Amino acid sequence: MVGPGIVLTPRHGGAWRFDPGALFLEFLLTGGPGELAVFDRLHEPDDLRHWIGASRLGLAGTDVAVSPADLGPARLLRDALWRATRAASAGIAVTDGDTRAIERIAAAPPLIPLWGSRWHTPAGAPAVLSTIARDAITVLAVDGHRVRECAADDCRLVFLDTSRPGARRWCSMQRCGNRHKVRDYRSRESSPPDGDD
Ligand SMILES: [Zn+2]
Repeated sequence: MVGPGIVLTPRHGGAWRFDPGALFLEFLLTGGPGELAVFDRLHEPDDLRHWIGASRLGLAGTDVAVSPADLGPARLLRDALWRATRAASAGIAVTDGDTRAIERIAAAPPLIPLWGSRWHTPAGAPAVLSTIARDAITVLAVDGHRVRECAADDCRLVFLDTSRPGARRWCSMQRCGNRHKVRDYRSRESSPPDGDD
């Protein structure tokens, strides 16, 4: 069985699995506000179903009813979560507008959990969005300072650092971490690469 995370297919290089460490951070991979709008992947109900099927929820996209009317709230939640995540990781207050938007969506009934890491189905998109919003509220309140952006200059991926020392710098050691080590090694030549991760 594969671990949690979302398979990313970058324009350059092969597909790889990125585990950002939390459900709501997986949702940020569908696009975002401002300069991230060009990456928007929520255009059709099937797009949201596709994300649901790929996410750590463990649901099949076909288990969830999604209508075109669900896409507006989905994008609104995602964009508010981006701003809230950046604020929390920078240690500054999330705006009232964003907390209200996230709380409003969290107020809907969430997915109903069943024994064995399963959910009651069929379910509706508002329940999925509520579950995502609740995840964000819980995680950001406790571990907001552990959410950070990959240290690579050209990588925007955001993850929850669950390592005990709290010193994770890269979206993935195999990807940006290795690229950095190789560059660092070349630039220093005689000294060995550092052993951080
Ligand atoms: Zn990265």
